[in-house]
Amino acid sequence: MSILAVGSIAFDSIKTPFGERDRVLGGAATYFSLAASFFTDVKVVAVVGGDFNHECERIFLERQIDISEIERIPEGKTFYYSGEYGYDLNVRRTLDTQLNVFANFKPRLSDASRHLPYLFLGNIAPEIQLSVRKQMRNPKLVAMDTMNYWIERTHHSLLEALREIDILIINDSEARELAGEANLIKAARRILTFGPHMIVVKRGEYGAAMFTSDSYFATPAFPLEDVFDPTGAGDGFAGGFMGYLAGTGNMDESALRRAIIYGSVMASFVVEEFGCDRLRRLTYGEIGARFKEFKAITHFEDIEFVHRAL
Ligand code: AMP
Repeated sequence: MSILAVGSIAFDSIKTPFGERDRVLGGAATYFSLAASFFTDVKVVAVVGGDFNHECERIFLERQIDISEIERIPEGKTFYYSGEYGYDLNVRRTLDTQLNVFANFKPRLSDASRHLPYLFLGNIAPEIQLSVRKQMRNPKLVAMDTMNYWIERTHHSLLEALREIDILIINDSEARELAGEANLIKAARRILTFGPHMIVVKRGEYGAAMFTSDSYFATPAFPLEDVFDPTGAGDGFAGGFMGYLAGTGNMDESALRRAIIYGSVMASFVVEEFGCDRLRRLTYGEIGARFKEFKAITHFEDIEFVHRAL
């Protein structure tokens, strides 16, 4: 079943200890839709400037992502983001954020988009997320992401958007910041009172955890030796997670757990190369093989407890 995804489409300038790239295609909606497109149909709602050329378009079209509702402002500039990482790749320092064409973006969904069953409100201004949410007619599942930029600048509208969603997918440090709570378990419990029925916390190289009011599931990240650029890992995770759920149409506990693993699988590929390069040449065989490896590294047998008698 199809997903409608709203979020940033950006040009990113990224520096890591292993190299740097200037103005590569990135953004939440880009990484999300590329990852989700391995599982189901995806349509993107976003805005770009005249600098978004055919080469950028091709990255979406190669994966048959529907870009017919991407608004184009020929005289405007696409969202620009610049960030850098040190040796701790879990910590990114933002150097520059230029909203550009997103500053005045007021999406108007087509009738067909309003009826799509799955909605992903990717990282962008909460007013835009809320406006898209309000235009939807009875979606089956609504998931959302956000980041410190919006938590700090638009707290009130972010809380408003949170009331309208089912699942919040968020970084650990941002979950703590949003909840005003240092302990992650308490932070997740607190955010559950803001509206969502489920919180998925992304913990970078330490994996991901899923919380509801009465359940908990966690997985490590895939053990990679070579991580080049963590940018987009969170959105790649969300794309695998929601793509799998929409692809199966199932949302029971075991499907949700598999979705967390598919999210982790997709994130592990994103970080292997700069920008979208790895996702562009990813194969279904590679996804399946890494899913199986995940099972092997997390599986253990429940055998008899050996104890020392006193
Ligand atoms: P992540 O998956 O969390 O690494 O997200 C990385 C992407 O988020 C980058 O490609 C950026 O273009 C995009 N991004 C960075 N800051 C913002 C922001 N304030 N709003 C929306 N998107 C952003």
